[in-house]
Amino acid sequence: MIIDGHNDLVARLWRGDEVRHVHLDQAADADFAGGFFALYVPSPKLAEPPPADHYALPLSEPVPRDEAARVAAELYDVFLSLPVQLATSPEDFGQDRVTAILHLEGAEPLAENLSDLDEWHARGLRSIGPVWSRANAFAEGVPFRFPSSPDTGPGLTGAGRELVRRCNGLGILVDLSHLNEAGFWDVARLSTAPLVATHSNAHAICASTRNLTDAQLDAIGVSGGVVGINFAVSFLREDGGQVAATPLREIVRHVEYVAGRIGIDHVAFGSDFDGALVSEELGGIAGLPKLVAELRAAGFDDEGVAKVTHRNWLRVLGDTWA
Ligand code: ZN
Repeated sequence: MIIDGHNDLVARLWRGDEVRHVHLDQAADADFAGGFFALYVPSPKLAEPPPADHYALPLSEPVPRDEAARVAAELYDVFLSLPVQLATSPEDFGQDRVTAILHLEGAEPLAENLSDLDEWHARGLRSIGPVWSRANAFAEGVPFRFPSSPDTGPGLTGAGRELVRRCNGLGILVDLSHLNEAGFWDVARLSTAPLVATHSNAHAICASTRNLTDAQLDAIGVSGGVVGINFAVSFLREDGGQVAATPLREIVRHVEYVAGRIGIDHVAFGSDFDGALVSEELGGIAGLPKLVAELRAAGFDDEGVAKVTHRNWLRVLGDTWA
């Protein structure tokens, strides 16, 4: 069974684009049990890392709250149209179905005073990334830069700190991916839940702003949290390049690094399917069994594979949603 930390299927369908990776009719054969399905309000100009191995894209423009709320309502309707079961408990995941965690990637659609957070929780929202890679009322995300430290700007605002407290109270997971380093440490200091980065990699291997430094990884491990390894080639490769011909071994390398640094209990998958360029060897979810075979070839035993593919996610969801 494979549970995944991030996909952008909803935004892709909302735009009217062709599905590239998350073909739900292939889920059963691929042993794909679902995971985090993002509601992502797109930025007008899509910031995808360029093919060059050095880049410093400007920070994406903020999206006004009213516009973000309108788009989020449409994204939510798309989510509801999917043939998936909504996740509100780890027990909702099973081998015979696709289960979806409703995740908000960037909290722009929320009122700054969080007056609508309870309503979103009632709709099934169980995970929030305070930011995508731009600024909003709650925090600031990292611009896409390589090579670069993730220490690129200011941390949480007062509203952002209140968002973390309210999420802790409601049992909503707070996702650290896309936060800059100051925001990361603000959440780490404040949150009472295990620390989670749903779709980020090891900065020591690939020096992208989107990846986690060793100190950040250590904090996630100590908290009992988890890192979902992102399959986006530009966040995997040492050269940061947008190269489709990237071997699956590069994903395993980050799994090995994080497991070696903070333990096998703290690493999982966070594909970024339908939101990023991934290895052509993988394709979409149909290629997941190939990735599992690559883990086994690298020496991961049954228990290690079970932890990386689903057990770690289930444990952290249980600890966070309790
Ligand atoms: Zn993302």
